[in-house]
Amino acid sequence: MICDVAVSAPVRGLFSYALDTEALGRPVPGTRVWVPFGRGQRIGVIVSCRERASNDDLSTLKPITEVLDEVPRVDPAVLALARWAASYYHHPLGEIIAATLPTVLRRRRWKAAPEEHGWRLTETGRRTLAQDAALGHRQQRVIECFEGAEVCEHPAFEDLDFDWRAALRRLVRRGWVERVATIEASPDSPAASPVELNAEQRLATDAVVNALGSFAAFVLHGVTGSGKTEVYFECIEQCLRNSNQVLVLVPEIALTGQLVARFRERFGARVQALHSGLSDRQRALTWLDCTAGRCEVLIGTRSAVWVGLPRLKLIIVDEEHDASYKQQDGFRYSARDVAIMRARMSAVPVVLGSATPALETLANVERGKYTRLRLTRRALAQSVPSIEPLDVRGHQLEGGLGETLLNAMAAHLERGEQVMLFLNRRGYAPLLMCRNCGEPRRCESCDAYYVFHKGLDVARCHHCGRQISMRRPAGCCEQPDIAPIGLGTERLEEVVATRFPTHRICRMDRDTVRHAAALDDMLDDIAAGRVDILIGTQMVAKGFDFGAITLVGIVDADSRLYALDFRAEERLAQLLIQVAGRAGRADKPGRVLIQTHQPGHPVLRRIIEQGYDVYAETALAERAEAALPPFVAMAIIRAESNRSDRPLGFLGAVRQSLASLTDTVDISYPIPALMERRAGRYRALIVLSAPQRSSIG
Ligand code: ADP
Ligand code: ZN
Repeated sequence: MICDVAVSAPVRGLFSYALDTEALGRPVPGTRVWVPFGRGQRIGVIVSCRERASNDDLSTLKPITEVLDEVPRVDPAVLALARWAASYYHHPLGEIIAATLPTVLRRRRWKAAPEEHGWRLTETGRRTLAQDAALGHRQQRVIECFEGAEVCEHPAFEDLDFDWRAALRRLVRRGWVERVATIEASPDSPAASPVELNAEQRLATDAVVNALGSFAAFVLHGVTGSGKTEVYFECIEQCLRNSNQVLVLVPEIALTGQLVARFRERFGARVQALHSGLSDRQRALTWLDCTAGRCEVLIGTRSAVWVGLPRLKLIIVDEEHDASYKQQDGFRYSARDVAIMRARMSAVPVVLGSATPALETLANVERGKYTRLRLTRRALAQSVPSIEPLDVRGHQLEGGLGETLLNAMAAHLERGEQVMLFLNRRGYAPLLMCRNCGEPRRCESCDAYYVFHKGLDVARCHHCGRQISMRRPAGCCEQPDIAPIGLGTERLEEVVATRFPTHRICRMDRDTVRHAAALDDMLDDIAAGRVDILIGTQMVAKGFDFGAITLVGIVDADSRLYALDFRAEERLAQLLIQVAGRAGRADKPGRVLIQTHQPGHPVLRRIIEQGYDVYAETALAERAEAALPPFVAMAIIRAESNRSDRPLGFLGAVRQSLASLTDTVDISYPIPALMERRAGRYRALIVLSAPQRSSIG
């Protein structure tokens, strides 16, 4: 046979290999193979196979070395999705497929399927051993592996330096050890009694449930706390009645123990989660469970959109506007958009949930491509938080905090209520400047300044990760006198601790939340009232339930109003509404204070006075006017080099050859990237835009 294989390598196209069917059988598409490639061997996945025709010249083809799977590991639907993505995002298929596999399956050896069974001691085994039965040395060592474990799987024995399988077999024959399936087939029954859905929730649920069985895209547009999750639950419940599978995507940081616990409470062991906190092995097991159809509800972040689910019935993308759905390096894609395409290809509905839908999404509602389902009221609390701008022009700020905000904090804390401060800048100070010569400390590899991290006593570049000790003398002038300028969350914490010395403070940013467990601990502390003041970066806007927080202070809303990225303003609007939505969910109304030097800024005013919907409408009109997405399609061609002149020169040539090919595509002149030098490399880009996506390719 001749097989077309997607090889895990940064090259486009498929590679044909000869397959010796007598030795290797007849694998089907989706099967992993080990193939010669370049000077070595690599993993590949068979994309298609055909019988050798009489005129095929096999001598030009290299042979497949080994077939790695007995059953295809890559689900046919995911393979089709990956092929679509390869062409849509212009990325090598082999790399996309490799990225969809769990790490262990990217290696040659993980041939067996250790997920299917394990072993455990039988009752007889236990009793006999308790009586000190005489055992051979090897059997004894195997038995020792069971200490403290109910069921042992392959890896538990892997350290044994002898043929443990033979010893195990003998133990099984003696009736002391038995083989058991490690994945329990029957899930726990759901425990929590479902809430009574209100009329809007019911309408939304019915719309989705009625659409099951074919493709449809819904936007579940509901303010924070309006009960979107309960709508998801009800839809999922309907799907599970026929033992189907549901995929739930959530933003990076939102996938916490609390969320999983809420799903488990409702659906028991039918729920599995895929997130970065899992070990490679756990990830692989969950992945295999899904592809084998054993897991019914998969909750996961971005990459879960690539997991095989043969009985997929529904896809939910929660907080669909969230930026973490976009993979920003390597294979760049939007998990939300891939999810929509997956739903289309699998003929299932997709639900995009958000309190602040992305402008693209709203445009698709306008065009009639998506159906909007609205939840207009909060499910529990009646009140929607009040949002007030605080003009801090000319005010004395104490570590970034104006008197009005400080007084409001004191009042809320006095009443025993929780307060949250939002500042989207981590570290102690964003700038270190020499008071003697005025020189700021710059990263040697990037066009960026070092951020001061006081606790670590280092200056760190947030773009390349380079850091230097503060004890290293600054060489800016004869008498360097370095001072931190500006405000980061670390400094804000210090300021707040001085001002409110008896209150408990929790800082939530990427420096304090290094792993999932730390985040879970913080969320528990906040929920249990062990925190009075929460200080956070955009992490706090990710769908957490901070019910008892009644005051939110946005320390600095200004920096984003003048960003160059055309999406910055939209993100600011979403952020403000999302952060505000965290306040006062329970019985007490919430209050949001926004400190700004631009109280009259039209964008800010619109968001505050008229809310997200009106803001979005105007912003979309402005995008149409300015010929920006979603009204035109855009693509960026990037180039980078460690020589400063190369990217611009190269892109100039690219522009010329492209310009001769098309007159429907607008091609910009090469421009340096916003941060031209990053991690020692010079970067530039050209922007292509066209009224239709199809003219760009
Ligand atoms: P969202 O996902 O939109 O932020 P949730 O689904 O988390 O909202 O709902 C917010 C709170 O309201 C939760 O505590 C939830 O249990 C409760 N809730 C939602 N819908 C109802 C309902 N119909 N009746 C009673 N409580 C509800
Ligand atoms: Zn740097």
